[in-house]
Amino acid sequence: MKIGALFPRRWLNLQEYQSKKLMQESGVAVQRFYVADTASEALEAAKRLNAKEIVLKAQILAGGRGKGVFDSGLKGGVHLTKDPAVVGELANKMLGFNLTTKQTPKDGVKVKTVMVAEALDISRETYFAILMDRSCNGPVMVGSPQGGMDIEEVAASTPELIFKEVIDIFEGVQDDQALRMATNLGFKGPLQKQAADQIKRLYDLFLKVDATQVEVNPLGETPEGQVVCFDAKINFDDNAEFRQKAVFAMDDMTESDPTEMQAAKWDLKYIGLDGNIACFVNGAGLAMATCDIIDLHGGKPANFLDLGGGVQERQVYEAFKLLTADPKRNNLNKWKPLIKWSGDHFPARHPLY
Ligand code: ADP
Ligand code: MG
Repeated sequence: MKIGALFPRRWLNLQEYQSKKLMQESGVAVQRFYVADTASEALEAAKRLNAKEIVLKAQILAGGRGKGVFDSGLKGGVHLTKDPAVVGELANKMLGFNLTTKQTPKDGVKVKTVMVAEALDISRETYFAILMDRSCNGPVMVGSPQGGMDIEEVAASTPELIFKEVIDIFEGVQDDQALRMATNLGFKGPLQKQAADQIKRLYDLFLKVDATQVEVNPLGETPEGQVVCFDAKINFDDNAEFRQKAVFAMDDMTESDPTEMQAAKWDLKYIGLDGNIACFVNGAGLAMATCDIIDLHGGKPANFLDLGGGVQERQVYEAFKLLTADPKRNNLNKWKPLIKWSGDHFPARHPLY
């Protein structure tokens, strides 16, 4: 048995356009869209859409794109325009440039793909998510009538506007629960049933793809009376990889940290940090405690590396290779014990032996 099979390696994350494809297949309402890797493809896609208004969206695995900034100087990773030519010009300032948002590292993430979609007027933006919640032993729906780009602020300053609905995994989402959530999201009249229907479809998708989270922000309503998912973020349970082959095949990993990926290959859990003391431990709890101890003594951990309980010799070897190969973290020559050992702390003969 593969040692790593006992532990989730990392959670698969898909781009918005990939998540929206899965949503479409489950009958969830999303706008028409194309994806493009070059500015000329984006221009072509904008013409082909033949929409009254077009939205151009940078594809990175982080949220907050609307309020993000590119290192090309362009502000905003989401732009609306009526002119396909403008889509081409904007795509030129997005593709190949780094987009920094409040969810990315400070140098941002390079944009390799853009989504060109039909824009719709949005009269109201709500927030809706389904996630696995340990404290409820199962899935929970979370929603707010005040969704959109300031949802973190809404959650912090007006927590009473965040509504929760615990789902019984055996029973699924009940009609009255879906309708109650739709009402809490502020949908009125016929929109209430439409929103409840979308909520149920999103839950079906959540189960079907073994998601750990499906987040739609905004779940919006249009002046024409449609409920539409304008953004999508789905995370998946890595333990389900064996039965979600099609989903996992979409993982391009280009945004993943190369050291983390190398570690994952050997079923090691590695997370790079910005300090200079390597943390190399068996077990995540002990690794976290060790990071805390390093911090408590005035040091800074360079990484979190959990070898796992049943680690084999070869994995330990690979783990040392990873730690020592990274120039930023290669501090071997400067390693000093944090605590000065004396005979009292470290008896030559252990009393128990
Ligand atoms: P992010 O969450 O990364 O900032 P979103 O996809 O939520 O990106 O887009 C940011 C904002 O752009 C949305 O809150 C919405 O106001 C607007 N928007 C996104 N998609 C569309 C669309 N298809 N039509 C009109 N407006 C849109
Ligand atoms: Mg969003």
